[in-house]
Amino acid sequence: MAKSHIVFISTPGIGNLVPLVEFAQLLVNHDRRLHATILIITMSQRPIVNAYIQSRVATSTSITFLPLPPVDPPSPDQYRSTMGYISLLIQNHKRHVKNAITKLMSSDSAESKSSNSDQVVGFFVDMFCTSMIDVANELGIPCYLYFASPATFLSFMLHLPFLDAQNPAEFVDLGTELSIPGFVNSVPPLVLPTAVLNKKGDAYSWYLSHARRYTETKGIVVNTFRELESHALDSLDTSQVPQVYPIGLVLDLYEPTQKRDLNQYESVIRWLDDQPSSSVMLLCFGSMGSLSGPQVREIAYGLERAGVRFLWVLREPPKSQLDLPSDHANVEDVLPNGFLERTRELGMVCGWIPQAKILAHQSIGGFISHCGWNSILESLWYGVPIATWPIYAEQQMNAFEMVKELGLAIEVRLDYREGSDLVMGEEVDRSIKRLMNGGDVVRGRVKEMREKSRIALMENGSSHQALGVLIRNLVPKI
Ligand code: UDP
Repeated sequence: MAKSHIVFISTPGIGNLVPLVEFAQLLVNHDRRLHATILIITMSQRPIVNAYIQSRVATSTSITFLPLPPVDPPSPDQYRSTMGYISLLIQNHKRHVKNAITKLMSSDSAESKSSNSDQVVGFFVDMFCTSMIDVANELGIPCYLYFASPATFLSFMLHLPFLDAQNPAEFVDLGTELSIPGFVNSVPPLVLPTAVLNKKGDAYSWYLSHARRYTETKGIVVNTFRELESHALDSLDTSQVPQVYPIGLVLDLYEPTQKRDLNQYESVIRWLDDQPSSSVMLLCFGSMGSLSGPQVREIAYGLERAGVRFLWVLREPPKSQLDLPSDHANVEDVLPNGFLERTRELGMVCGWIPQAKILAHQSIGGFISHCGWNSILESLWYGVPIATWPIYAEQQMNAFEMVKELGLAIEVRLDYREGSDLVMGEEVDRSIKRLMNGGDVVRGRVKEMREKSRIALMENGSSHQALGVLIRNLVPKI
């Protein structure tokens, strides 16, 4: 059967790559004439990403994973932030990406002598892979942006060049809140991404440069659904923005992202099985989140005071700028003396676990989350209310959206900054009690959104329809 090939490339981060792979899977499941090739940028500092790719390669038949040859990493004088390093690393792969797609196109055209229709019909790049738009242009392939964050953040990024031109001063020094089209409320500068709060930093220049290129694409696929972000999506419906396709939620619910420690996973599930329904609070801070020693101790103090059942994913801060957090060799080293003993009946502390599987468990009743977009979507899918504790990337803005725009979460903090902020144990205790014992309005709204998220994916649901339109635009003859 003739195939229409679609090529994908993602930033090497679990929160970027997993939803991109799941989106590729969604496309090929939707139409068997589509074939997906995912170009892989390897980063040795990302063991969880590398393990995920290995497990996906082993289990996937309908997607080709194509590792790109290694490139020289950017030299330290070329970047000052992780964002700078990653953007340059991706950019350095352009030649290899062009070669890989050219090869794919020439094998397509060789095959097409018999089938007369195999071709590469689209190249999807993620929010930090915008340098690859050049490759698509050189090869004459339609380029699409795959956006794994909310529509509100997309709206912010598209608006950033205007905000930058209008406000030469730092945003926090403006003394006023910002009007951003995707938000109903005006937005306090302190919930902008940390990178955007320092205009002199290279991370800010990279954000701007990526944002400026989004409008060069033929369309933008967003991992969201209309019923969740209708205002933000409506604000994007203008002639200045390429067509937006809200096709979410795209989640990896069935294949745990990572089961590196099977024993730990099984003992967590055994423990959860013994707990009453909706009684356990999950604390998890994402693939890149870790907290300082004093903050860990305050959380421990808050948990003991609250006396609520808990499952706490506690990870060790990275050893260097480009590293990610890792599991503690011994968690007791960072917890208050005797904490594990005193809370033995009440909770568990663990390392990386497959979060979506945990959220699916009937004993989970609340989630203190760093508000990464995948985590938010997972919690909505399972109807588990969040208390917001944003740490990095666009998470402060996501927390603001969840609490202030949508009324779908309870606030611990909206503008937390690791290192310069400390949430005291009393505050942790109060937030936990509000989340687990009160917060009925939020809990009810989250349950409603859970139903809407499921309807969006059904045949003729809003996301299903958007996917159909996308496929018709990608491959008009199908
Ligand atoms: N995750 C997980 N186990 C962990 C921490 C994170 O499975 O201990 C998964 C989580 O379910 C989500 C992804 O990693 O799918 C993180 O993506 P998100 O957008 O929430 O945040 P990021 O880590 O990209 O900041």
